[in-house]
Amino acid sequence: MNIPLTDMTIEPVHGCDKRCPFCSLSQYPADSEVHYMDSNLFYNNILSFLKRHQTKFSKISFSRFGEPTMHPDLLDFIYQTRQAKPESKVTVITNGHQLRKRGDTSYIRELIKAGASHIMIDCYEYETFEIFENDKDGLEIEPSYGEKGTVWHTFENKILHVSFLNKPINQVDTQAGSVPYKNWESYSIDPKKLPKRVPCFQLCHQIVILYNGNVPICCKDGSKSLILGNIQERSIEEIWGSDFANELRYALFNCDRELIPPCALCSATCGGYYPLGFRKDYDRNHILDMVSARFKPDKDWVHNIREFHKENAIPKYLKELLDRKGFVL
Ligand code: SF4
Repeated sequence: MNIPLTDMTIEPVHGCDKRCPFCSLSQYPADSEVHYMDSNLFYNNILSFLKRHQTKFSKISFSRFGEPTMHPDLLDFIYQTRQAKPESKVTVITNGHQLRKRGDTSYIRELIKAGASHIMIDCYEYETFEIFENDKDGLEIEPSYGEKGTVWHTFENKILHVSFLNKPINQVDTQAGSVPYKNWESYSIDPKKLPKRVPCFQLCHQIVILYNGNVPICCKDGSKSLILGNIQERSIEEIWGSDFANELRYALFNCDRELIPPCALCSATCGGYYPLGFRKDYDRNHILDMVSARFKPDKDWVHNIREFHKENAIPKYLKELLDRKGFVL
């Protein structure tokens, strides 16, 4: 299976100055160590890949399980990415850390100058929203600003997209089980309605590279319990096209989320048509063996799945997988 890679998410920082209850970081204490991507890893492994990879990327995003603007070299990462992929969207998703730190939007303007084409500012606190509001001169803002939570700004023929979540959040997902179970229901997620029997195509278009070079199954896997490989040990192309990644894709096409631990607790419906068709003849035990060899559950993930299955039968394959890891459900 040769899947074109057109979307990359890079995690410059693992950790954050906030602990929002809907975020996978909410499972860790607020004073947990913050990890920063080694800049050499970005330049030697990621940037070099972007330069040699000829395909146009639809999006290269700086985000994931941490606040990217805490990285001291983020502006240069963006500048270099823009040089390597001038036609791709270069996106930053921030909680507004630098706005609060500086009290103005100067960092946002520096991001734009460096080459960011889309910036999403999630204003989970009114303070952040207010700082932007007071210093938005020169930013062209769409009229729906503050209503639908979206603002548009044009800059040198590019679009800057700023989202404001200045209202209570009522639509979140389980982050593949990494958000503590008790938080799910308060955000209107009915665990009994997790989409176990729908296909997922997330692993068909996006690769996620964590601060330490690990590649998790997808951007939802906040527990990083299933790692496809590390870009310091294998090239990005190899990890993306590996047998393991393909077996996971087959299982997900076939709606077999429960064979794959993070997916078993995922509420995302990453649907959409992907022109491959479903493969019906794959070997579930083979996939289970492959997943089992790499699955590293932590006690929080197991706790979440225990809670989830309180009133439901635990799927045979998932039980077997956890048995192999020494967890008795
Ligand atoms: S089912 Fe969820 S965790 Fe699994 S690949 Fe899809 S989006 Fe990611």
